Amino acid sequence: MPKKQFDLYTFVAGAALEAGKPFPMECNCGGVVTIMPPFQDEYVVCPRCESKIRMLVIEGDPGYIIGADPDGTPRLLPVQGSSKPHPGKLSASEREAILARVQEQIEAKDK
Ligand SMILES: [Zn+2]
Repeated sequence: MPKKQFDLYTFVAGAALEAGKPFPMECNCGGVVTIMPPFQDEYVVCPRCESKIRMLVIEGDPGYIIGADPDGTPRLLPVQGSSKPHPGKLSASEREAILARVQEQIEAKDK
């Protein structure tokens, strides 16, 4: 039996790790873990809910990546440690514009 690996996954900007400065990473529960680069482990543990959070490093410094809800609706997932604005801080119209572009690309692919 493989042991349970991780409770959560989060995306971290590669640029934040390269910068070598500590940065806060937010858990889904609202707990904050301070990441101290150079980061050697593949996961951190939330001090509040004790979730094991696996960090997936995204190259560069994107503010978000495009993910999808279980029903396939595209959504913006924050990339932690990025100097770009959190997708939650974009205005509704900015967010909609990004998601509309994504939706177009998905539909174009389906044809
Ligand atoms: Zn937590």
